[in-house]
Amino acid sequence: KLYNEVQDLKGNIRVYCRIRPFLPGQSQNQTTIELIGDNGELVVSNPLKQGKESRKLFKFNKVFGPTASQEEVFVDTQPLIRSVLDGYKVCIFAYGQTGSGKTYTMSGPSLSSKSDWGVNYRALHDLFHISQSRKGSIVYEVGVQMVEIYNEQVRDLLSSNGPQKRLGIWNSSQPNGLVVPDASLHTVNSMTDVLELMDIGLMNRATGSTALNERSSRSHSVLTVHVRGMDLETNTLLRGCLHLVDLAGSERVERSEATGDRLKEAQHINKSLSALGDVIFALAQKSSHVPYRNSKLTQLLQSSLGGQAKTLMFVQLNPDAASYSETISTLKFAVRVS
Ligand code: ADP
Ligand code: MG
Repeated sequence: KLYNEVQDLKGNIRVYCRIRPFLPGQSQNQTTIELIGDNGELVVSNPLKQGKESRKLFKFNKVFGPTASQEEVFVDTQPLIRSVLDGYKVCIFAYGQTGSGKTYTMSGPSLSSKSDWGVNYRALHDLFHISQSRKGSIVYEVGVQMVEIYNEQVRDLLSSNGPQKRLGIWNSSQPNGLVVPDASLHTVNSMTDVLELMDIGLMNRATGSTALNERSSRSHSVLTVHVRGMDLETNTLLRGCLHLVDLAGSERVERSEATGDRLKEAQHINKSLSALGDVIFALAQKSSHVPYRNSKLTQLLQSSLGGQAKTLMFVQLNPDAASYSETISTLKFAVRVS
C-alpha cells in the first residue's frame, strides 16, 4: 500500500507531524524524509531500497518541516487552547522516539528566550491573556498539576514533600466527571508563577536519576491545567481542562539488549503507549467500548479523550536515515489512531 491516509478528522482527533532539523554533527545526506508537500503530505523513503517501492506517502492534518518555528507550530494549536476557556477538555501530546523533538515541541529547548517556548508555555500565556481580556464578563481561575508516570506509578512533581510520593488517580465526583491525579494543585496567576513551578517540576523529575534525559525519555510527563470560569451574567460556572503530555520515547527495545530494570521499564512504556493507541483507535472507530483502564496514562487522560474532548497528537520524526525503522513504526502508530 503506497498511500497512508492520516488526514481524516474523525471526531475530534487531529494529528500533526513535525520533523526536526538535523543537529550539528549529523550527516545531512542521509535523510528519510523525501518531500514535505502542502496539505499535510509527507513522503518517507527507505534508504536501503530504490525505486517506487521505497517510498511511502503519509497525510496528516498538518506537517511542520525542519524550519518551522515554535510560533508557527503554536498558531495551529491555539484554537484548541482557546476552547479550554469555553469549558472544553483538551489533550495534546507528543509521540515519537527519543531525540525526535517531543520535549522541544511541548516545552522548548530552553526557557530563557520566549521565542523558544514550546506549546506548554505558550498555552498558559494564552490562557492568561484571553482570561484577562474577558475579565468584565467571566472571572477565571487557573490551576496546574504536574505528574510523571514511570513504571505505572504516578509521582507528583510539584509536591512540597518531595517527589517520591506514589499517587492514585481521582475519579472526581464533580458534575463534569473530571478525572484528576491525586497530586497537588497550584493556582497560578501569571507566567512568573508558571515558570517557577515548572522549575520545581523539572528539578523533581531529575531526582533519583543520574541524567535527566535518561529518565525523562522513559517516563510520561503530564502537565494538567484546570480552568474555572465564573460567568458573571448567567452566574454559571464553567470548567475546562488541558492535558499537555510529553510521552516516553516510543523506540522499541530489543529483548536481548534489555535486562532487569531496563526491561521492566521498556515493558511498562510499551504497555502504556499501546493502551493509548488502543483508546484513540477505539474512539476513532466510534467503538462502544473504550479500554481506558489498561494503563495509568489512559486512566489519567480518560476525561479528555473522547466525548466532547479535543485531542491533538504531534507525531515527531527524526530525519536521519538511521532512524528509518523507528520512523516507520511511529508513522504506523499515527495511521492507526487517525
Ligand atoms: P525528545 O524529547 O523526543 O527526546 P528533544 O526534544 O530532546 O527530543 O530533541 C532532541 C534534540 O533535538 C534536542 O537537542 C533539541 O533541542 C533538538 N531539536 C528537536 N526539535 C528541534 C527543532 N524543531 N528545531 C531545532 N532543534 C530541535
Ligand atoms: Mg524529551
